[in-house]
Amino acid sequence: AKSESLSDPHYFDYYLVDKLLERVQIEKKLPRALTDNEFELFYQPKIDLTTQALTGLEALIRWNDPEHGRISPASFIPIAEDSGFIVELGEWVLWEACRTNKKWQDAGYPKLPISVNVSAVQFRHPQFVRTVETVLEQTGLEPKYLELEVTESLLNDPVLIKDRLDSLKQRGISLSIDDFGTGYSSIYYLKELPLQVLKIDRTFVQNTPSSPRDNSLLQSIIQLGKSLGLTVLAEGVETKEQFDFLRQHDCDQIQGFYYSRPVDSDTMEEMLRISLS
Ligand code: C2E
Ligand code: CA
Ligand code: CA
Ligand code: CA
Repeated sequence: AKSESLSDPHYFDYYLVDKLLERVQIEKKLPRALTDNEFELFYQPKIDLTTQALTGLEALIRWNDPEHGRISPASFIPIAEDSGFIVELGEWVLWEACRTNKKWQDAGYPKLPISVNVSAVQFRHPQFVRTVETVLEQTGLEPKYLELEVTESLLNDPVLIKDRLDSLKQRGISLSIDDFGTGYSSIYYLKELPLQVLKIDRTFVQNTPSSPRDNSLLQSIIQLGKSLGLTVLAEGVETKEQFDFLRQHDCDQIQGFYYSRPVDSDTMEEMLRISLS
């Protein structure tokens, strides 16, 4: 039971105990949720700012818990990372994303790269590259149609990851740096590592174009990405004004509610069908 009164000296303890119990419960439920097929991938389109064409899809996991309904990845991914379960869950995401992309390609829809989010824990696992190879071999998806999104925190370990990024790149798999601007990546590593796409975190987009300060910050990040030879994508684009601003300032691609929210696979397939005509 949680006390509702702040004057209760144990209030914060109750709160922490609740949080801890919730964590423990989620951690215990995750493996069973996987075998019970409670996870699902949603897909969000990436749009080219010049042609306004679909240039790719990002796979985003959802958990359909029979008890609590749809649970956001923000609340269970960190728990899966702490417990190590992310390795298994992330492998499922890779299979599902590659299998689905190959299925859509075989059905005659435009061939697009699919992006998969990879946690640092998963990326550092010794078998990671092997797993990716197996998934590509078994699904028959060409490596150029798989993109991996990693966050800046990974770049803090450049020696360990350089080899791994190199071997993925050699295999033709493309690599994106996600949530750019929220971590601590050194420009030096950005230049040295084999990355192709820089995804600007949506916190840099949300106050544009009404905030002059944020506008110039956003412009600088776009220029930085371009000067490093990267494709620059802005996340979290919600308005036409943001879309126009980014197009005028040389950003390459966008993702966001302005164009489309993440959608389930049936809806995504329908969007692909429409894009043919
Ligand atoms: P992310 O990779 O940065 O994904 C973008 C998030 O922003 C998604 O939240 C997406 O639904 C949301 N978003 C997209 N457009 C807009 C917009 O215009 N406005 C706003 N406000 N939000 C927008 P989602 O799907 O809840 O995922 C949250 C995070 O969970 C992801 O952030 C990613 O870090 C993690 N995640 C999701 N799926 C996976 C996965 O399969 N594996 C791993 N390791 N992490 C995942
Ligand atoms: Ca992402
Ligand atoms: Ca992101
Ligand atoms: Ca994010």
